[in-house]
Amino acid sequence: MRTQVAIIGAGPAGLLLGALLGKAGIGNVIVERSSAAHVLSRIRAGVLEQGTVDLLRSVGCATRLDAEGLIHEGIDLAFDDSLHRVDLKQHAGGRVVTVYGQTEVTRDLMDARSASGHSTIYEAADVTLHGIDASPYVAFRSDRVDVRLDCDFIAGCDGFHGVSRQSLPAAALRVFERVYPFGWLGLMADLPPVNDELIYARHSRGFALCSMRSPARSRYYVQVDASEHAEDWSDDQFWDELRRRLPEATAARVTTGPSIEKSVAALRSFVAEPMRFGQLFLCGDAAHIVPPTGAKGLNLAASDVHYLFDALREFYEEKSAAGLDAYSTRALARVWKAERFSWWMTSILHRFPDQGEFGERLQLSELDYLTHSEAAMSALAENYVGLPF
Ligand SMILES: Cc1cc2nc3c(=O)[nH]c(=O)nc-3n(C[C@H](O)[C@H](O)[C@H](O)COP(=O)(O)OP(=O)(O)OC[C@H]3O[C@@H](n4cnc5c(N)ncnc54)[C@H](O)[C@@H]3O)c2cc1C
Repeated sequence: MRTQVAIIGAGPAGLLLGALLGKAGIGNVIVERSSAAHVLSRIRAGVLEQGTVDLLRSVGCATRLDAEGLIHEGIDLAFDDSLHRVDLKQHAGGRVVTVYGQTEVTRDLMDARSASGHSTIYEAADVTLHGIDASPYVAFRSDRVDVRLDCDFIAGCDGFHGVSRQSLPAAALRVFERVYPFGWLGLMADLPPVNDELIYARHSRGFALCSMRSPARSRYYVQVDASEHAEDWSDDQFWDELRRRLPEATAARVTTGPSIEKSVAALRSFVAEPMRFGQLFLCGDAAHIVPPTGAKGLNLAASDVHYLFDALREFYEEKSAAGLDAYSTRALARVWKAERFSWWMTSILHRFPDQGEFGERLQLSELDYLTHSEAAMSALAENYVGLPF
């Protein structure tokens, strides 16, 4: 097989890049390790920045998003037994975020890809990358047949555990990493959310987040020790712990019931530099991870895709490699700002084992400042709604 761009991974990064390239008439094939059903079963992000929504609109994949996505103009910070609203729209020049699940984004992109006729190879086994210095190709097995896919470029959109970054010699990459000593236990339930907007709660027992996917589907999280397992938590234990961490009046309004999913996600900050190596370009979680506190992971994948698509379009349409040469620097400038914001949100809201009483007072003072200073609320809001691409 031969194509112009071989895309590894059919997560949001790979599917969005495929949609943009396809629309521009640039040939691409997506090679995905898992089945489509498995990709769709992963419950992850839910908050989309305006830039991400605009990209989805530009490829005609926003009909359902525009109809069903929930526009959020603010968030609530909970501490000292009360809610403190930050008006995002007011403090971020009119910009807002849209709540629409990653699963739905993925489904919309997959449906559009099937309709477009571009090739996606699901359940590709033993995917390996070759010749990334000059003449790249991807090898894999599909239906027990060995396949070689020659291409001009490889886009490594295969997430943190994918093969793309791991194909590079260790000496070629500089890695920056912080692993947090806790995770998030998440619970999804077909129950009305406790609040119209997200609540980020700081409590001496640990962080909690009240989120949602729709007016009828809630997504809640509580900070747990990194060693915890979801199966050790009954739904009742989860609801009790969540309510303990919320202001009393809010806790009293939580509608509880059976979960449809529970899982623990580890928290990590990670960046691998550079994001280009020869003809291989890393995109999204393949190159960087943020703790989910700032809702940035999926949105960063989208901004990487935007930069890479721009560069590839310039290469094919204008015969210029300038954008490709600049890709890593452009993408990393935005990545690091999101890394900083996600780390900061995590550090002011979570309970750290070594923070002590001094650390607790600093957190409370930071939150007090944050909710009373116009300048501080603007800094939070412009980062939360997403810095410009
Ligand atoms: C449990 C969890 C909860 C999260 N919650 C949030 C949140 O609330 N907010 C937020 O913004 N972000 C969240 N994130 C992060 C967000 O989901 C990711 O940033 C986003 O999925 C990145 O998209 P991606 O396409 O880069 O990678 P992925 O979504 O990881 O997609 C990579 C794809 O590559 C495929 N793949 C892997 N290896 C190979 C291989 N060898 N060959 C071929 N294909 C391969 C995978 O099967 C997968 O389909 C969460 C992540 C996790 C894990």
